[in-house]
Amino acid sequence: MREPSVGIASCVRCGTCCERGGPVLHVEDMGILRDHHAIFRHLVTIRAGEPVFNPVTNRVERAEREMVKVKGRGGSWCCSFYRREDSSCTIYDFRFLECRLLKCWDPSDLMRVMGRGTIRRSDVLNEGDPIRSVIALHDEECPLSELSALVVRAFVEDEDGTARRRLSDLIRRDSALRSYALNDLGVESAFELFLFGRTVRDIVSDAGLVFGTGRRDSVRQGRRGPDKAGAVDKGERMC
Ligand code: SF4
Repeated sequence: MREPSVGIASCVRCGTCCERGGPVLHVEDMGILRDHHAIFRHLVTIRAGEPVFNPVTNRVERAEREMVKVKGRGGSWCCSFYRREDSSCTIYDFRFLECRLLKCWDPSDLMRVMGRGTIRRSDVLNEGDPIRSVIALHDEECPLSELSALVVRAFVEDEDGTARRRLSDLIRRDSALRSYALNDLGVESAFELFLFGRTVRDIVSDAGLVFGTGRRDSVRQGRRGPDKAGAVDKGERMC
């Protein structure tokens, strides 16, 4: 984990924490959602198996479980509630558990709750909401559990192209189901990241593999690659 900030004992509103990424949501944050201080359009789901940055080990690792967090903006993980103009939080009075606990000069309180009591999409969606069955189908058709292994194989031992074909297949299925939800069911595009998480194409591309720029439905190798342990390059992957 990052070294605690030296020489300060209270928040100096430098904004670094909020710029590094919004919080993961916990059971204690459900009231904030119920009262609509944050809604679906503010959230992104990290699906089980997705490569994410673990601040405890300081590595990118596969998420062990599904998590919901505040999404970033402008192509970065900077919290969408952070206002750069005056380094402020636009929902400060209702901010999330991790935000309340985070003290960069002493991360011990935050560390105690990290990975514990986090919520999933099913905790937030209404019982009987038909989108639940589309999410379940998406999870079944486009699992991320095998993604890291496939990326490693695509880089180092994929002479017959099996891993690349499987990655292409996952990307196609992911795209088709999102398209079905948005175009056929009329789901708002602003909800897509919460309902289905980041696209498989984006996750694969973060690993340095590029989809479909040459032959249709092909995956090819980009500049970056997996490290020795099979985790993808830390790059922009902040969670
Ligand atoms: S919710 Fe507010 S305090 Fe928490 S990371 Fe976002 S801007 Fe910062």
